[in-house]
Amino acid sequence: MDAPDDSKDETADPAQAGGDPKDDAGDPVARHRGTIDRLDRDLIRLLAERLQAARAIGDHRSRNKDAALRDDDRERRLFEAWAREAEDRGISAYFAGRVLREVLNWSRRDQERFLGGAAPGSAAARSARIGYQGVPACYSDLAIGKIFATREVARLERVGFRGFAAVIDAMESGEIDYALLPIENTIAGSINEVYDLLGHRPVTIVGEEVWEVEHCLLGLPGARLEELRVVRSHPVALQQCAKFLDRLVGVTSESFHDTAGAAQAVAREGVPSVAAIASEDAAREYGLVVLKRDISDQPVNLTRFLLIGREAEPFDARRPAKTSLVFSVNHRRGALLECLKCFDAQGINLTKLESRPQANAPWEYQFYLDFEGHVTEPGAVAALQEIRAHTNHLKVLGSYPRRIESDRERQALDPAHAGGRLRASAVAGSVARETPAGAAGAPASEAAATGGVAASEPPANPALRLTGLKSGAPRSRVDVSGVEFGGVRFVLAIGPCAVESRQQMMESAELVKRHGAAIMRGGAFKPRTSPYAFQGLGFAGLDLLVEAGRAYELPVVTEVLHPEDVERIGASADMLQVGARNMQNFALLKEVGRARRPVLLKRGLSATIEELLLAAEYVMSGGNHRVVLCERGIRTFETATRNTLDISAVPVLKERTHLPVIVDPSHAAGRRSLVIPLALAAAAAGADGLIIEAHPHPDDARCDKEQALTDEDLATLVAALRPILAAQGRHL
Ligand code: PEP
Ligand code: MN
Repeated sequence: MDAPDDSKDETADPAQAGGDPKDDAGDPVARHRGTIDRLDRDLIRLLAERLQAARAIGDHRSRNKDAALRDDDRERRLFEAWAREAEDRGISAYFAGRVLREVLNWSRRDQERFLGGAAPGSAAARSARIGYQGVPACYSDLAIGKIFATREVARLERVGFRGFAAVIDAMESGEIDYALLPIENTIAGSINEVYDLLGHRPVTIVGEEVWEVEHCLLGLPGARLEELRVVRSHPVALQQCAKFLDRLVGVTSESFHDTAGAAQAVAREGVPSVAAIASEDAAREYGLVVLKRDISDQPVNLTRFLLIGREAEPFDARRPAKTSLVFSVNHRRGALLECLKCFDAQGINLTKLESRPQANAPWEYQFYLDFEGHVTEPGAVAALQEIRAHTNHLKVLGSYPRRIESDRERQALDPAHAGGRLRASAVAGSVARETPAGAAGAPASEAAATGGVAASEPPANPALRLTGLKSGAPRSRVDVSGVEFGGVRFVLAIGPCAVESRQQMMESAELVKRHGAAIMRGGAFKPRTSPYAFQGLGFAGLDLLVEAGRAYELPVVTEVLHPEDVERIGASADMLQVGARNMQNFALLKEVGRARRPVLLKRGLSATIEELLLAAEYVMSGGNHRVVLCERGIRTFETATRNTLDISAVPVLKERTHLPVIVDPSHAAGRRSLVIPLALAAAAAGADGLIIEAHPHPDDARCDKEQALTDEDLATLVAALRPILAAQGRHL
């Protein structure tokens, strides 16, 4: 509503305003201005009275859960009445409509304070610290004022940070309660760094806000456009005003880390030939003046911001919701299309789909998707349940009140769309959502999972929300750099217990490849019972494993012992193994749950099958869907074998979970002579593959030499496996 110059008073018609134009005595402009001032005060008073009435309605609606939040029919009638009255009084119906739209928008927002977010009286309602990137009066700071205007917060403290990651760090450390970060701009596109942070950090989206960016050229008081030499701003702002800047002869642009920061620097340095591009608010904040308003090349320049919190915040089910998620698809033809179909089948409207490359996986993409609706609505629950069959990784970033009207909502108020006239009851009926009381504090991804169960028959343990096998749902196939577990191919992962040297690894890879294995194993970090035993070569060993794997085109699997190593090992290994001793290392499970690599999860020495599944649930609920389970023998009273291979675990797991199941006969047996019979038993029992230790020179092995298969053993094993697999319609 900014006027381009200072002429707004002169355009007012004193006759309409109720002044007395006949009396020309004294200064007529001053007199008319007096009239305008009085009318403006009346306008404010009337607006306040109108808002009070709207609040009373909001209060009523918050108590009556059946009432619709919006009455589109009534709003249309209001617009029509305003248009008629405006024209009768000789003012533009368009102008009157714009004013009414603002008033209605604000009333609606104001009513939200009755409809959830922080409960009145809660800690969040008393005070909140909110972080943003930039300095006071930057666009993020302004958007904070807008989004918190209708949140029940008594005291708001704003903390500016230099970068986006620093804001999220402060959230994680508890220094701030919320973060408001920009996610996309209608001219510049997505802010990828923020997307990447959302994908990897344990935070959730709790709100969105849209800010209309109105770039102004700001200078020192007394500065003149003709005398400018330098214009500073954020590179995106400079780019958005490129045409305007091109017309300023002899002026150079200078990049600055943010718009308001540029204004601050101009004020601090006090050089009249230096100006900044920032908001009008920044001019007020730093004592600058607006040299030129509305200098953006594009008339519409909107930035969408996300309000980020530590946990999901419940809100009234009648408020239109939006959900954001990030996922990656497995490498099968049509996988993305299948994902999109899952939403379409539930009649869910997608509002955004964007792909981003993944740092450690060239030419594989992550998709950022927004849809209309809450993650707990039955349709969303069903869609997310189905989509899992096609995704490698999925994280719900949050469900939150939607700020951007849907097409349907816009059309309902647009007289040009008579057919779009909707009854209020139809709008209310489309939101058949109840916010479950128990889900109030649940992280978003867990909330998604909760609903997953309701769609079909409940699994034995209700906590097996993601790992449990649902009737009619397909079994998962887990892709490991092109090798698929759970398909018709029976996967052999073979290699030495430990990585010992370059030569040992090259010879191992040759051996493994020659016998038709699909994957090579090798431990770089070894969990040894005795502290004096060989502990593995560590990251140097990882490099040797990866090098040998590349040389023979074999994806590699290796064990990770510490949560802090997950990212580094995941950067080069194709699959992360969580060993038996770590099956209930929950910190490690959570970390591999965040990783973008498939996980081989081995059953603990004394773990029940249910505990194994719950461990897998940790990984899946972290967002990582690529989990392969491994039975590797359990502790019993029997001492004839290293462990007792629980062969029944294979069919039991197949009954309970959709995840692929493989068997490690090496660590179960502990002796070479037992490995082949146990391996054959596993295949016959329906396992999806085997992980087996072999060594080019077993006598020299530094670890588990008694159970390492030789070249001849591998030949015997493969020959004996073939007929068993053929009988099942499988192959190597
Ligand atoms: C291994 O596979 O190298 C290993 C140590 O196995 P587990 O964790 O099953 O003992
Ligand atoms: Mn071993």
